[in-house]
Amino acid sequence: MENPLTPEVLADPVALTRALVDIESVSLNEKAIADCVEEVLRVVPHLTTFRHGNTVMARTDLGRASRVVLAGHLDTVPLNNNFPSTLRGDLMYGCGTSDMKSGVAFALHLATALPEPRYDVTYFFYEAEEIESRYNGLYLVAQAHPDWLEADFALLLEPTHGIVEAGCQGTMRAVVVTTGVRAHSARSWHGVNAVHDAGEVLRRLSAYQARRVTIDGCEYREGMNATRIHGGVAGNVVPDRCEIEVNYRFAPDRTPAEAEAHLREVFAGYELTVTDCAAGALPGLEAAPAREFLAAVGAAPIGKLGWTDVARFAAMGIPALNFGPGDPNLAHHPDEHVEIGKIREGAATLHRWLAAA
Ligand SMILES: [Zn+2]
Repeated sequence: MENPLTPEVLADPVALTRALVDIESVSLNEKAIADCVEEVLRVVPHLTTFRHGNTVMARTDLGRASRVVLAGHLDTVPLNNNFPSTLRGDLMYGCGTSDMKSGVAFALHLATALPEPRYDVTYFFYEAEEIESRYNGLYLVAQAHPDWLEADFALLLEPTHGIVEAGCQGTMRAVVVTTGVRAHSARSWHGVNAVHDAGEVLRRLSAYQARRVTIDGCEYREGMNATRIHGGVAGNVVPDRCEIEVNYRFAPDRTPAEAEAHLREVFAGYELTVTDCAAGALPGLEAAPAREFLAAVGAAPIGKLGWTDVARFAAMGIPALNFGPGDPNLAHHPDEHVEIGKIREGAATLHRWLAAA
């Protein structure tokens, strides 16, 4: 295949977004796009390029006082009659336009266009963000080559519609269990109905007052919800077990251990097992490159409500923010699109920030 990422395409973030969208890269099928990205980075004289699996990174080594990471995932969710891209007015439609090839285009454009950025920059293009963690290129490189990711600040170019979203909330899943005694429903007084006992668990959830926490001016709104309920044996049996799956989204001032302690307090008296957890990330607005980035954007950040890979950077001690042109509400949507104006605006902002003397 001829590499579609020609010098003319690399010079224009809009054309570059489109070219990247038109290289199909559903998770675990990123080889072609990684090959194209690697090939263009290898020949840039001011960059040193590395590859691990289908994750490609390139770095400047100018001896600057700070280093920043610009990161984006190369994969997309499965196609949904939205490949290749199409243009309608100011909108570019297609799988990955919003999440997040427009963000990847920012990093790739800057990597090739800025020989002397104000910080040393690590441009990081990784595989398999949309699927389980064990395939995630950022996770894999953090295990295999943690030195590749050393930095003072990271910018994750996920869709935020041009707003700076700081940190992210943590998420915990747990199963609350009620137990009873099985009996024939014709003689139900011999049993204890575990499904009835689930009522109290649900009552606590309905009455629950979720916190709203403000950290560094960013509000994080928590939530605790039953997401699934399972119980029952047969149509004529008093059930002896009911499981209520609970998802707790918690503000990043709480550690996973504190979140678990809080869940145990809410469901005191019940058996509770944590099945999955991902820590949140504090906003991370104190690092000098973060402050300079916010000045370039010229608007206040807001708290990120979902979980993103900024938490992986936070776990490595690297403060990170989310900033990208796509609308996050359109990510994973068959009508996924990006506003071309937002691509131009965001690219100009990043240029202003990284090129400043
Ligand atoms: Zn994404």
